Amino acid sequence: RNNAEKFEFQAEVSRLMDIIINSLYSNKDIFLRELISNASDALDKIRFLSLTDKEVLGEGDTSKLEIHIKLDKEKKMLSLRDRGIGMTKEDLIKNLGTIAKSGTSAFVERMQSTGDLNLIGQFGVGFYSVYLVADYVEVISKHNDDKQYVWESKADGAFAISEDTWNEPLGRGTEIRLHLRDEAQEYLEESKLKELVKKYSEFINFPIYIWASKEVDVEVPADEDESSDEESSDSTSSEEGEDEAEKSEDEDTEKKPKKKTVKETTYEWERLNDVKAIWLRSPKDVTNEEYVKFYHSLTKDFSDEKPMAWSHFTAEGDVEFKAVLFVPPKAPHNLYQSYYNSNKSNLKLYVRRVFISDEFDELLPKFLSFLMGLVDSDTLPLNVSREMLQAHSSLKTIKKKLVRKALDMIRRIADEDPDEFSGKDEKDVEKSGDEDEKKGQYTKFWNEYGKSIKLGIIEDATNRNRLAKLLRFESTKSDGKLTSLDQYISRMKSGQKDIFYITGISKEQLEKSPFLERLKKKNYEVIFFTDPVDEYLMQYLMDYEGKQFQNVSKDGLKIGKDSKSKELKDSFKELTKWWKGTLKTEDVDEVKISNRLDNTPCVVVTSKFGWSANMERLMQAQTL
Ligand code: ADP
Ligand code: MG
Repeated sequence: RNNAEKFEFQAEVSRLMDIIINSLYSNKDIFLRELISNASDALDKIRFLSLTDKEVLGEGDTSKLEIHIKLDKEKKMLSLRDRGIGMTKEDLIKNLGTIAKSGTSAFVERMQSTGDLNLIGQFGVGFYSVYLVADYVEVISKHNDDKQYVWESKADGAFAISEDTWNEPLGRGTEIRLHLRDEAQEYLEESKLKELVKKYSEFINFPIYIWASKEVDVEVPADEDESSDEESSDSTSSEEGEDEAEKSEDEDTEKKPKKKTVKETTYEWERLNDVKAIWLRSPKDVTNEEYVKFYHSLTKDFSDEKPMAWSHFTAEGDVEFKAVLFVPPKAPHNLYQSYYNSNKSNLKLYVRRVFISDEFDELLPKFLSFLMGLVDSDTLPLNVSREMLQAHSSLKTIKKKLVRKALDMIRRIADEDPDEFSGKDEKDVEKSGDEDEKKGQYTKFWNEYGKSIKLGIIEDATNRNRLAKLLRFESTKSDGKLTSLDQYISRMKSGQKDIFYITGISKEQLEKSPFLERLKKKNYEVIFFTDPVDEYLMQYLMDYEGKQFQNVSKDGLKIGKDSKSKELKDSFKELTKWWKGTLKTEDVDEVKISNRLDNTPCVVVTSKFGWSANMERLMQAQTL
């Protein structure tokens, strides 16, 4: 085309496209859900803008927030059209080729090692999956602020942009035309596309239509001279006589002109999805399978893994909202890397069914940022700016309730895990689902998100006790398994007042510690804390269920009642005095008779309120 401007793809994008084109990846279906997801995002954006300015929607068909799919067998073309926000010329250049998203190279790497394309949407490069099935793609787009443009590329390192002077005006939105490869002709079958939309795009909140063919019986006047038609039907019939009889009867009863029915193919827009949002339904009417599918579509994680747990609820009262929360099967790889400098929550915020944002920081505290899900509020105002929403007073209440529900949900994973000691009566534990599936779930949860629970104990004073219930660790008695504070307490010896713990690099190192000699011998249980964050944790977790925590490497350890201690102290008074005098005062505060040793002659103990030796080590290594 003579008005076309040429552009080169950014290098990473070009590489990604090469890999996609040459991929032998068998599940090519995924391109459709990526296109539908983009269409849905674009519709969300224009709907959001229309909250403060109705004009942006336009009139007539242009104002309909819908997605349309059309097939053209002759041209071997599949097209998908939305009436979303559309793209300006600049948007087309930036979004579809010249600027690589941050996830691009990460995804290229992943593709090269696993060959799995399934997560393309999560990395923000879903659009390019069109080249799994097409060798030539056109994107026609009209944004309210610009003219209509065509983007086109044969994925040969370059794309072209032209002002659109030949296609039908779109009004507003985007039409993507895929010129299908020879081996991808199955995507011209209506039944295939219907199946895919049902499978992957069930939870899209805008109507999806397909231009569907329909065989209909139409009555047409039968011309007298169309005898040839009748002859042919007669010749296949073995019961000529009956036909004759019926015909004559017809003729006798109706004196109307003769009619006959023929099959005709007509086309019409057929609706493929039901847009009743899952979170508006009553939880008892939603099946587990539906929640799992909803999770996949919400998170664009189309792997086979199921979320570990979910919670779907309605909050009533001053602040009304509905929410669905999920615990993903795996923590995102950068969960803690960005912990201190990002506040990003993974919850989508809706206000009265209208999508507002998925970058709303005020919904969950940082330590729960691993949760996925959505909140749909009836109380928040619709037609205000994001900034005003962010400052709205009811957000605090929403956050508080979400935290409470999230902690209940996590607690439930533990309670339903048959391997876990729930601390409740057996009959109080609500059991649901497959026992086998729940077995070991809490250990799995702990391995993925344990650190978040600890950070929660540090940061959230209000919920500290609730979070402490979720804490797991190994101990001198846990036999290589994880155990909880409730379990620890249930095993405490009579007369034991404190909860004993020790901190260090590893369990193996701690097991040999002289600090444990006497405690072990007397059969007291000691908790091992081996994560760097545990030192900080124990500065915040002072007590649990009325029991104090005692670091056994620190001064002030009391092990039960020791009747002989006064006697010992007196008889060794000379020795301790001499020793203290011999060592320099800056090195030691005190020399005492120890109650914690058995074989080891002496040990260095840190003061009760100072740093433990492990903390000194951590600070020197700056591991946190
Ligand atoms: P993502 O959807 O994760 O941002 P994609 O590769 O799927 O990544 O899409 C890239 C960008 O192209 C989108 O962010 C959006 O800006 C733009 N885009 C794609 N499809 C459409 C569309 N149908 N309407 C408007 N913009 C679109
Ligand atoms: Mg996308």
